[in-house]
Amino acid sequence: MDCVTSLSGVEVQVDDWGVDAVYGSPQKCLSCTPGVTPLTVGDRAREKILGRETDPKSWYLDLAGVMEYWGDDPSYHHTPPTSSLYGLRESLRLVAEEGLEARWKRHRDVAGALVEGLEDLGLELFPDRDHWLPSLNTVRVPDGVDDAAVIDFLLSEYDIEIAGGLGELSGELWRIGCMGHSARHQNVAALLTGMKEALAAQEYDTSAIEA
Ligand SMILES: *Cc1c(COP(=O)(O)O)cnc(C)c1O
Repeated sequence: MDCVTSLSGVEVQVDDWGVDAVYGSPQKCLSCTPGVTPLTVGDRAREKILGRETDPKSWYLDLAGVMEYWGDDPSYHHTPPTSSLYGLRESLRLVAEEGLEARWKRHRDVAGALVEGLEDLGLELFPDRDHWLPSLNTVRVPDGVDDAAVIDFLLSEYDIEIAGGLGELSGELWRIGCMGHSARHQNVAALLTGMKEALAAQEYDTSAIEA
């Protein structure tokens, strides 16, 4: 399970959900520096890894080798990035201080306000509400609006960076992160103000906005 966008921002229950292998990242909802990857594998995945018939092509991603760090007779695999691990520990300490469930709720509440505000501007989410990911909100670009011009406007005028769609969804949607330290109502308010101005600058039909 790819938890890069979700770890500490939305609920992840590795054991209860019976997930075999999970990885996250420190630089999203954990608001830490990048460089190390939180990773967990269960018994089934472990068996699979230790039972490989061909050697992995990458030394650093050779999990069987990395696993030798643990156990009764630990052995060296590579020098760990200790400063990054201290950083990760500090970010986890902040999560523990806030409370994991309170943090999930904060992401839901703040992103909920974001979605509500975007809908008030006449915009709509790309996924069904059932598949809404509070930490990464994907929003349809309305017809006639230049997605890149809005992205540039927000960055130059509001110091807010949002992303466009990828691949076949390029030009079709915006991706708006609501992650970790930045998941705050004041940031949502700034984004909504900037988005309204950016849309108005493109003569987007503001009747929904005035209503
Ligand atoms: C950001 C993201 C990635 C990429 O993470 P990197 O650390 O930049 O490689 C992968 N998967 C998901 C779901 C993401 O949100």
